Amino acid sequence: MSSSGFASQNGAGATYANGLSQNPVALYPSNQGYMTPPQPGYLNAMPAKAPTPPAPSCYNPSRQQPSPVAMSQHPLSLPSSPNHRPALVPPAHTPPLTNSFYQQHPQQPPRWPPPAVNHASPALISTPQQPYSTGTSTPLVFQNTMQSPAPLPPYSALNNTHMPAPALNIVAPHTHHSFGKPPAALRGTPPPSGPPPPLVTHNDAGPYSAQPGAMNRLMGTAYPSLQPAYQSVPTPQKPPHMQPAAQPYSTAAAPQYQQPTVSAAQLGPSLAALNLQSQMPEALRVVNLLQERSLLPPGAVTPPTPCLPQDLQRLNCSPEVFRCTLTSIPQTQTLLNKAKLPLGLLLHPFKDLSQLPVVTSSTIVRCRSCRTYINPFVSFLDQRRWKCNLCYRVNDVPEEFMYNPVSRSYGEPHKRPEVQNATIEFIAPSEYMLRPPQPAVYLFVLDVSHNAVETGYLDVVCQSLLDNLNSLPGDARTKIGFITFDSTIHFYNLQEGLSQPQMLIVSDIEDVFLPTPDSLLVNLSECKELVQDLLRSLPQMFSKTMETQSALGPALQGAFKLLSPTGGRVSVFQTQLPAVGAGALKPREEPSQRAAVKDVQHLSPATDFYKKLALDCSGQQIAVDLFLLSAQYCDLASLGCISRYSAGCVYYYPSYHNHHNPSQTERFQKDFKRYLTRKIGFEAVMRIRCTKGLSIHTFHGNFFVRSTDLLSLPNVNPDAGFAVQMSIEENLLDMQVVSFQAALLYTSSKGERRIRVHTLCLPVVSSLSDIFAGADVQAVTALLASMAVDRSVSASLSDARDALTNAAIDSLTSYRTSVLTIQQPGLLSPACLCLFPLYILALLKYKAFRTGTSARLDERVFAMCQLKYQPLAYLMLMVHPALYRVDNMTDEGALNINERTVPQPRVLQLTVEKLSGDGAFLMDHGTVLYLWIGRNCSPTFLTQVLGVQSYAAVPQNMKQLPELDTTESSRIRAFIDWLREQRPFYPILHIIKDESELKAEFMHNMTEDRTESALSYYEFLLHLQQQISK
Ligand SMILES: [Zn+2]
Repeated sequence: MSSSGFASQNGAGATYANGLSQNPVALYPSNQGYMTPPQPGYLNAMPAKAPTPPAPSCYNPSRQQPSPVAMSQHPLSLPSSPNHRPALVPPAHTPPLTNSFYQQHPQQPPRWPPPAVNHASPALISTPQQPYSTGTSTPLVFQNTMQSPAPLPPYSALNNTHMPAPALNIVAPHTHHSFGKPPAALRGTPPPSGPPPPLVTHNDAGPYSAQPGAMNRLMGTAYPSLQPAYQSVPTPQKPPHMQPAAQPYSTAAAPQYQQPTVSAAQLGPSLAALNLQSQMPEALRVVNLLQERSLLPPGAVTPPTPCLPQDLQRLNCSPEVFRCTLTSIPQTQTLLNKAKLPLGLLLHPFKDLSQLPVVTSSTIVRCRSCRTYINPFVSFLDQRRWKCNLCYRVNDVPEEFMYNPVSRSYGEPHKRPEVQNATIEFIAPSEYMLRPPQPAVYLFVLDVSHNAVETGYLDVVCQSLLDNLNSLPGDARTKIGFITFDSTIHFYNLQEGLSQPQMLIVSDIEDVFLPTPDSLLVNLSECKELVQDLLRSLPQMFSKTMETQSALGPALQGAFKLLSPTGGRVSVFQTQLPAVGAGALKPREEPSQRAAVKDVQHLSPATDFYKKLALDCSGQQIAVDLFLLSAQYCDLASLGCISRYSAGCVYYYPSYHNHHNPSQTERFQKDFKRYLTRKIGFEAVMRIRCTKGLSIHTFHGNFFVRSTDLLSLPNVNPDAGFAVQMSIEENLLDMQVVSFQAALLYTSSKGERRIRVHTLCLPVVSSLSDIFAGADVQAVTALLASMAVDRSVSASLSDARDALTNAAIDSLTSYRTSVLTIQQPGLLSPACLCLFPLYILALLKYKAFRTGTSARLDERVFAMCQLKYQPLAYLMLMVHPALYRVDNMTDEGALNINERTVPQPRVLQLTVEKLSGDGAFLMDHGTVLYLWIGRNCSPTFLTQVLGVQSYAAVPQNMKQLPELDTTESSRIRAFIDWLREQRPFYPILHIIKDESELKAEFMHNMTEDRTESALSYYEFLLHLQQQISK
């Protein structure tokens, strides 16, 4: 990338669209006419905000200083205000628009779908009758879970009455009738402070059970017992900021009851208290990026903690599962636009969790109106009614919810596990399914052309399957099948009773049919011996093949036919460009363009065959996972669609060869073992809901968007990440908090219908400084990366690169002009965003977006797939690896895990300045670890860790550390093991010297250094500063 690469590609005359809405922008090539002229309305959009009292600002510097933030929101006080720095940024004209993710679409519905997202293309989704929208062929019913609610029963009138319905009976709880709502009389009088209502021994408490582990965990949480409750609190006419006595959610004059729990009802006071102690938090400390160089924290970058009262935050969803780019949500879209930061969620919904409360209940309590699952952030108006935190509807508490199986007590609905855990899993009752849950079904589709057999991959696959056949997730119903293909398709009859597997060749690839439909997919436990026979003989069966062609498309069509009746998982192994039959592709990559300075062609699919087939698969609950093992160009941009739209996953092993590339083989073996044995969910759907006023408009990841917010996931696995973008459709003025809920309904491999629910609660703020203070720089980076992938495909790579750079420029400009009160020179950033420019630069140098450096097209496309698919933590390591010096580690600050001491060396900046010839450095790049040995590395390290006498004796292609009985050896091995344990995949280790081929890869990750085609970090900062000062 030359420095001109940053220059606007299309900027002439373009103005900075103010971006009232962030959404759709990313979709349109920047030169397609959304260069809206500056909107005068922009500055006036927040009339007279300044005079209003400070909003629920967690740390509002305006308390100490003359309200700079509020003033900056005022139309008249923008840069021309005398309070502002003179002319750092000219007031009315914001920097010329080069290319931004944030553009202006005021009050328009999101213009979606773009070409690049996972919606079906317009042609596929334009008709309402399109087959996937209703799942006609799949009689699973989602009404109960995911669809619009049933008509409201008459008592919905309760919502708006000032008093509880008159005819409420007060019934002693032990009668087991309706517990009734507290009578009006009670509301004025605090109940006796004695024990809660008598416990009822419910012998029929059966419907509910929690896992023992969950119980223990739940029991530990100490909630205050019932407080003097049901006090009538007059509804204050709330200003938008907090009032101690205010209920968090105001509804029209409904009587508010102090909630007998700590949750949302006490929010007001707690937040108000926080407000009082407001001070400039560390997150807002002003950092001059040009001066402070060591910005990386010594260890992992931790996500910001939402500024919520402690008791609420304690219940909040783990950031490992659910994160928001902004942990303080802006009150209005206008405010969000001013911050120039993207608003979105990052999810890792099916992550392997060590503790997951699981409940079985015949009644899953959900909002009657919006179908939100009851969660820790709802409010209980009284024991019998709860108010939804997403739509604010008041719901009844069902009778059986009154019993708390954890405390075995009655009358404490707020202590139920559903209200105590932001992540919880339900075993769904029968109304969540229409047909019996499908069995686990696995189909392996194997390339057996000459090219494929020559790589030796078949041995690895078959051996791995043999080793793990008993560990495949499933039960007695589990089915398995195999298809192999070259220029023809081969099915295998594995029916019980046969003496050996029977191969059936279908050579008519124009119209693939199933030769014996009933015996190709067999029960694993009944036919295990035949399956094992087949796996033992497969590698030899094709060892002498001279067939070079690959009919992948027809093989996939066969797989689709075979799995259509049940749904399931297809694992496809492909080693070359498919050349015959449907879906045949032609080489598109021009090696001469690998180092293109500007744009890269062919990032989008060459045919819609794979996407269409994927959508057919999705409709039949089939996911297709693609393993691409190849030295040649395979057109992943086209092939990848088969996984992307069917919610599958893609693995890519460039230059795979059992003998020539043993480290790839090792990685493939480890990945494949994980793949075979990890948890899997079938026929899944995920819905993400958010509090009224917020709207989700763009999804990133592998799935098909079945309806506006329902993601169809024929399979879901614990290693898949998702991201969504959001906008603020209605101002959140009355709200102190908002919530987001992701509900994943799936069939477990044991045939249970389960629902995993995650709920995240975040505060709403009204000042720019609070928004900045809550910015989660890693989440922001990850979301921008996904947006940039879309932009690369829908517009161009250079467009996406510009937009990334502009994202940094825009947000720092906004911070400078609207948040900072004290003028100072330099490139200024709030501490919480100080890594933002570094991460953006790392993205620009990442394989997906780099220019000027040779990158194979498939590798680039795969890097893009990873950005959209990997959960945040792994994604960040791929983009910005962690570098450690490991030859001088000590036990200082070490962790002690299972009586193992794990040293914690400091994370170093990614620059050769940090390397020294007398040391050894470990780089954690997510899927790969590099251990670079300096030429003058200490003899102690060489002998005690590597087991060699000299630098020259370090073997080339060393992949493992010998297990030496020395302190140094066990220290570094403990550290590497610990790093590996942090992730579900297995990063391979390369021990490299200066002479190693991989040295270039290692050095390429030195993000902060200059290369022939890319700026150094410091140059990049200067570029940003120059743009900001324009
Ligand atoms: Zn609701």
